[in-house]
Amino acid sequence: SLWRYLQEKFKESLSKVSYDTWIDSAVPVRLTETNIIIEVPSSLHKDYWQNNLATRVVEGIYEFTNKEISPIFMIKNEEVPTIEQERPIRPEKKPFKQAQLNSKYTFDTFVIGKGNQMAHAAALVVAEEPGTIYNPLFFYGGVGLGKTHLMHAIGHQMIQLRPDAKVKYVSSETFANDFINSIQNRTQEQFRNEYRSVDLLLVDDIQFFADKEGTQEEFFHTFNALYDERKQIVLTSDRLPNEIPKLQERLVSRFAWGLSVDITPPDLETRIAILRNKANSERLEIPDDTLSYIAGQIDSNIRELEGALVRVQAFSAIQGRDITTSLAADALKSILPTDKPKALSIYAIQQTVAKFYQVTVEEIKGKKRTKGIVVPRQIAMYLSRELTDSSLPKIGQEFGGKDHTTVLHAYDKIQAAIKKDSTLNEEIKTLSEKLKNN
Ligand code: ADP
Ligand code: MG
Repeated sequence: SLWRYLQEKFKESLSKVSYDTWIDSAVPVRLTETNIIIEVPSSLHKDYWQNNLATRVVEGIYEFTNKEISPIFMIKNEEVPTIEQERPIRPEKKPFKQAQLNSKYTFDTFVIGKGNQMAHAAALVVAEEPGTIYNPLFFYGGVGLGKTHLMHAIGHQMIQLRPDAKVKYVSSETFANDFINSIQNRTQEQFRNEYRSVDLLLVDDIQFFADKEGTQEEFFHTFNALYDERKQIVLTSDRLPNEIPKLQERLVSRFAWGLSVDITPPDLETRIAILRNKANSERLEIPDDTLSYIAGQIDSNIRELEGALVRVQAFSAIQGRDITTSLAADALKSILPTDKPKALSIYAIQQTVAKFYQVTVEEIKGKKRTKGIVVPRQIAMYLSRELTDSSLPKIGQEFGGKDHTTVLHAYDKIQAAIKKDSTLNEEIKTLSEKLKNN
């Protein structure tokens, strides 16, 4: 369906957090000849859709239906607007045949850093001198490092320099689907005309060609046709061609005719620069130390970095708090890997308490009932209950197999004692500190 199609498009271009935050919660409520009414949960969502997604909705609907339809966003539980009442948002003027390119993925918005400067330089060369120097240009690297962004940037730049240039961007899956559909619908002729008449062909994520024999065959011919005409080809993959399983040798060798450049994860400075750029373009006020904090926490890929920023932004809007480092920490808590301090063991408590009162761990765990040992034993039990998640029976077991009521009794006794005995109170505080800091 149309909505599914839009969802898939957003899934491709947004981070998972963004997708979950903004797209999942939206519901299409009505589609007319001119408008689509989309229901969202809050005004924050409405703003976000209006500012960031509306154009893409128009483009996506056009791709799917060939009609120009504008979205109207309404907040849940508000009255459904009548179409005449609200003026539909005009999409940015822009040629629809280039709708496959994401307007945000340009050279202007691409931050250059150590991990991508080679790739960026090669991309610029290819945009300016297509088909002559690096053909094909092949980017490879992990997810979310900017391969797709650079590819689109090449497309935009080329159109900027030569407005009549025919640019086609597809994922390898789209290429495969188009090919298979052309066979089923007997439109192979059309398929070939479409793919072999372009000036720039961008095929993203070709690792998904693995295992697709027929598609590889067809791509081989597409490649040759374009190459012979000196048309530029740009490819991306998560790995080098020779590492893609079941990629035909003749494709591997052709891909090696041009230039392969890898993109590696950004260093901290680049991550901060990317966040700063993003914050500026979204007009967000974020202090430098907060940007550094976020960049320090998310070091895997740029899509996640952007997702983190969206999350912080949403958190700040929902809670009505300014963006600070502590707000960012709260917002990111649930998505960061939890490296809780290592759980304190009962054994560590026994050792520390034993040393402090100059008895042995064996005595603490034993049965001797002399006062010099009983009190430290009870203190160790008390601290075991206070400072670990262990159950009473578990604590009893660690103290030489005592009953859970013994542990509870010890706990109550110490708890009562520290209220009256300030020396004991101090001692227990000291012990707790010691244990927590280790
Ligand atoms: P890939 O295709 O390698 O998986 P993408 O090109 O989709 O990665 O990039 C993921 C996100 O990170 C996109 O939103 C993109 O705009 C952004 N991004 C990646 N690299 C950069 C960069 N150098 N500067 C600014 N944004 C970047
Ligand atoms: Mg990509």
